[in-house]
Amino acid sequence: MQNTGGVRSALIVGAGIAGLTAASALARRGWLVEVAEAKAEGTTVGWGLSLTGPSLRALDQLGLAEQCLNTGYGMRVITNTDARGEVTSVAHPGLLGAARPAMAGIARPELHRILRLAALRLGVRIRYGLSVFRLAQQAGQVLAKLTDGTTRSVDLLVGADGIRSVVRDLTGRATPIDYHGQMVWRALVPRPDWATGIHTYASPRYQAGLVPISANQAYVFLTENGVRPDVLPDIELAERLAGLLAPFAEQVAELRPLVARSASVVRRPVQTVIVEAPWSHGNSLVIGDAAHAPSPQMISGAALAIEDGLILAEELDRQQDVPTALKSFTDRRWERCSVVVQTSVAISRLEQEQRHRDSYRLIEACHRQMAHPA
Ligand SMILES: Cc1cc2nc3c(=O)[nH]c(=O)nc-3n(C[C@H](O)[C@H](O)[C@H](O)COP(=O)(O)OP(=O)(O)OC[C@H]3O[C@@H](n4cnc5c(N)ncnc54)[C@H](O)[C@@H]3O)c2cc1C
Repeated sequence: MQNTGGVRSALIVGAGIAGLTAASALARRGWLVEVAEAKAEGTTVGWGLSLTGPSLRALDQLGLAEQCLNTGYGMRVITNTDARGEVTSVAHPGLLGAARPAMAGIARPELHRILRLAALRLGVRIRYGLSVFRLAQQAGQVLAKLTDGTTRSVDLLVGADGIRSVVRDLTGRATPIDYHGQMVWRALVPRPDWATGIHTYASPRYQAGLVPISANQAYVFLTENGVRPDVLPDIELAERLAGLLAPFAEQVAELRPLVARSASVVRRPVQTVIVEAPWSHGNSLVIGDAAHAPSPQMISGAALAIEDGLILAEELDRQQDVPTALKSFTDRRWERCSVVVQTSVAISRLEQEQRHRDSYRLIEACHRQMAHPA
């Protein structure tokens, strides 16, 4: 996509949550947008995702919250059962008004489908199996060399390429990825009738829980403490996760046979990234997990990623030129995103110290802070 006089052009690297929402937000404001995604079309990994109040609020601004609620499963309450069996329930801040759910569970491929179709309807071009390997600033433009041998000259280059961002490195913002000694598991299971909100359970060793993602489906999660980030054969995952759930009583015990039969189990390291400000270099910027990746326990990475797209489009409209808008974007986003990442790191530590009540309080306080507008 070459610069076309009068119309501003953007190349977004990564068709994940941040990339697709930024693409829609920019296209709605008249930008000509192309997205380069490294993976093949339709290969989004199928684990479930929790969308908190701020995620739904940001999706609502794109006109997509209702679709996500209809496809996923709307919820209001998080119920925590600590290692002594004491139960506390917390009403999640509802940001779409009292009549609509406060949060939603959704299958990740379904969320991606909704975001992708919205971007395509707005005229965004999405190219799969494509990435960038060289970037240069040139007279107010970014020159991007792509892996198919072609070149783009655009007004804006956005790196939305996730926690292992290549754009972050190419723009001189290489940042370490921190591993926190935990592995997180997720397994798709049929939704039990009693599961109408998020449930978490602590055992003396691990944390587990259940999140509905549709009328028929839910995902079970478990966070393993004090382990190396090794890789296990896929074929063993369901049985191993069922084994790790053995010390949990009652409701979790009921989930074990469902987990053992699950066709979709993933195990991922608990990692975080926070790139020092500014997140931009000339007309290039990193957003989403590429700039700030909290650990999964805060279930807030999606909210930050969606908000990023909306605020980026706002700042580009508000400011005189792209570099000023990108700087102002980081200024607006830095505190909120770094607080969520730091809180997620603190939660990871509290969980490993078996201080579950402290971690519930911290998660709730962070969700309340996030309820304030971005
Ligand atoms: C196990 C787990 C569970 C989680 N659960 C939740 C949850 O319940 N709720 C929540 O809010 N958050 C959750 N998160 C965090 C959330 O998934 C991320 O914060 C969110 O996906 C960030 O979106 P993103 O678009 O920035 O990155 P990603 O979703 O990682 O998307 C990046 C995209 O860029 C593509 N890409 C990568 N490299 C390149 C390249 N070089 N060139 C082109 N394309 C590239 C990738 O293929 C991908 O499509 C979880 C994270 C993990 C690991």
